Amino acid sequence: MVLLQGIGVSGGIAAGRLSFFHRQSDEIPRYRTADSEDEWRRFTVARGKAVQQIQELAELTRGQLRDGSEEAAQILEAHGIMAMDPEYEEDVGRRIRREHINAEAAVMDAAGEAAARIAVSDDSYMRARAADVEDMAHRIVAFLGQPEAPLEEPSLSDVPVILAADDLAPSETLRLDRTKILGFITAGGSAAGHTAILARTMGIPAVIGTGRQMKPEYGGQEILMDGDTGEIVIAPDEETRIRFLKKADKQRQDTENLEELKGKKTVTKDGRFIRLCCNISFPADVSAVLDSGADGIGLFRSECLFLGRKSAPSEEEQLEAYRRVLSVMGDRPVTIRTLDVGSDKQADYLGFDAETNPAMGNRGIRFSLSRPELFKIQLRALARASACGNLSIMFPMVTSVWEVTEAKRLWGQVQTELRMAGIPFDPKTPVGVMIETPAAALISDRLAERADFFSIGTNDLTQYTLACDRQSSIGIAGNAPDSGHPPVCDPYHPSILRLLELTAKNAQSAGIPVGICGGLAADQTMTEYFLSIGVGELSVPPRDILPLRRKIRTLR
Ligand code: PEP
Ligand code: MG
Repeated sequence: MVLLQGIGVSGGIAAGRLSFFHRQSDEIPRYRTADSEDEWRRFTVARGKAVQQIQELAELTRGQLRDGSEEAAQILEAHGIMAMDPEYEEDVGRRIRREHINAEAAVMDAAGEAAARIAVSDDSYMRARAADVEDMAHRIVAFLGQPEAPLEEPSLSDVPVILAADDLAPSETLRLDRTKILGFITAGGSAAGHTAILARTMGIPAVIGTGRQMKPEYGGQEILMDGDTGEIVIAPDEETRIRFLKKADKQRQDTENLEELKGKKTVTKDGRFIRLCCNISFPADVSAVLDSGADGIGLFRSECLFLGRKSAPSEEEQLEAYRRVLSVMGDRPVTIRTLDVGSDKQADYLGFDAETNPAMGNRGIRFSLSRPELFKIQLRALARASACGNLSIMFPMVTSVWEVTEAKRLWGQVQTELRMAGIPFDPKTPVGVMIETPAAALISDRLAERADFFSIGTNDLTQYTLACDRQSSIGIAGNAPDSGHPPVCDPYHPSILRLLELTAKNAQSAGIPVGICGGLAADQTMTEYFLSIGVGELSVPPRDILPLRRKIRTLR
């Protein structure tokens, strides 16, 4: 048994086998070919070998007779069926013959397009298939590169695993099939980093900052992890296993006890209503929102629709995604944040220039305003979606009045165009501003004149106020562990509290509501303080809704 210690950033106990995340090489050769028929032949031969390998792996997996083997075998067999799908085959053929590209590029492009089409489905089963399509394509490409790809042991990721990685980019986390992930462990990262946030939104236990403690030989071993305390146990003994199981049982019991708060109002003892909303990344998350008993959605990170794919989602695709969320939520409020890309949220097709300090660079509203054609597509989709639910929109990473004025000008322009075309929308859609830079907090009196509401992003507000990288573990551990140095990225720092108070005061003076959607919103040690400064909405991951409701109902 080996005990390791990391930092728990997404609560819960997970038990399972450890699998290391292997980044698939993106370097797929791409070139034009004169002999399309030869490329087609290469494709059919490679696909035949891939399918044969898949069948052998499926049989091997099924023969292992362990938990999940049958399911894993069926998933592999589904890969085989996808590889032989006539539509997929036709698309590969068309690309080889009409675009005159090599088989590798055609295989990946056709798979990428098929995956992108199903990645926005609200059916979690279908979304999981998006990653499968690309896995299948990588398998074919492996046979294009070498005449005899070795038959590997079936990868552990064919059954649910605890996944360990150096770090995971947001686009990588999003592309993982959450039904196969029991927990995340990363060597780097930080509590306010996007991987930790996504893990919390997905309700998956996560431990970060394990540094060099994870050794390759732990791969495949049984492990236990505690996303609250950051404990990790490799090859646990019986006593430890029982301790973890008892804790998991207690957590389950606690969750069951909270159920009685579903459908109850979140009111303080003196009758003040606090709106409790969820943060989501995808339309499919809406079912977790409904399950959680939340009053609405306070932050839909719309950029997740743009990450991990090869081209931007079209207006229709976005409209479909926003509409799906709004129609399921009915008259409950849904706040969609406009595209917040840049910094660590990169997508090749968006063509970002290389930046020395991307967190300080072209991100959030700056990026949207630098690409008005792309921004207006999103605004049109949002405006059209406003006709079928209780929508608010908000702008991320604001630092100036001009940005808000300009973004609202484009929003007005889009609304005028829709009006002229006779396309319905809600002209009263509230437009909010995220307060997540010190600049925005310091000019919140002026921003309040132009905003219908504020939503405070404490993750970025902490990063920019304290000049600390929210992605870096230095932020949490201080400069040297054991040095007594307090965490650098300290969201309780007096400077942050002053900015929160200033923002809340300016919102109140202007008569607009203020909420918090950053990670701190879920921190129950802060709830009483938030309410005392006038915060009226907290937006948190689904699993934090009922514990917060319980807490608020005890306050005055
Ligand atoms: C924040 O910065 O607190 C926030 C809610 O936005 P994100 O974490 O997506 O940057
Ligand atoms: Mg932010």
